[in-house]
Amino acid sequence: MRDIGTGEEISVGYVDVVHGRELRGWELRHYGFVCGCVACGDVEDVSFFFFSSFSFLSTVMWFCARRGVGVVVKDGMADITQEKGFAYATAQHRLQIQELERETWMLRGRRLLDGAREPQFATKMLRLAGLLQQEGLWDARLAAVFFDLALVCEVHGDFKMGLAAGERALLVKRDCQGVDFPEYAKYAEAVERIRVKRRREVEA
Ligand SMILES: [Zn+2]
Repeated sequence: MRDIGTGEEISVGYVDVVHGRELRGWELRHYGFVCGCVACGDVEDVSFFFFSSFSFLSTVMWFCARRGVGVVVKDGMADITQEKGFAYATAQHRLQIQELERETWMLRGRRLLDGAREPQFATKMLRLAGLLQQEGLWDARLAAVFFDLALVCEVHGDFKMGLAAGERALLVKRDCQGVDFPEYAKYAEAVERIRVKRRREVEA
């Protein structure tokens, strides 16, 4: 958290942006608007188009090019499965985030020790943190992922990585909720504990 300047733009999320485009659209309707951003307004899946003639093709290619969708022409037919648009990529990322959250949530919180024992857990959490950052989702969810990663590293005795993840968690937590947020002290305390362990390790 920080002070904002006069006239500075601030933004607030109306919906959970991890949700798919359709669900976001439905949620936003309750606020009375339709979002026209590239992630919401763009075409994610144009596979329902059926091409049967060349006259169609030029229109389709113009349509896709405008939206940054890669079109490969094979024997006069457009293969739109090679879609590379922003909306397509971001929808894929959000889907991956949902899947990773589904795969890891049972091993987090009180069950984090079980997570630490699960071989793929840390890798999945790292991937989750990467995707959240890639999607600009700099929020409490990301802070919690880094925090859990820090604790898992601590369990494994990797204090160097644990400290790096913990410091990242604190930074995100501070940016999005502020140091006066109740949970911040819990985060800070754990990171300090890992810092002490790391210091001892370096000094030894
Ligand atoms: Zn949007």
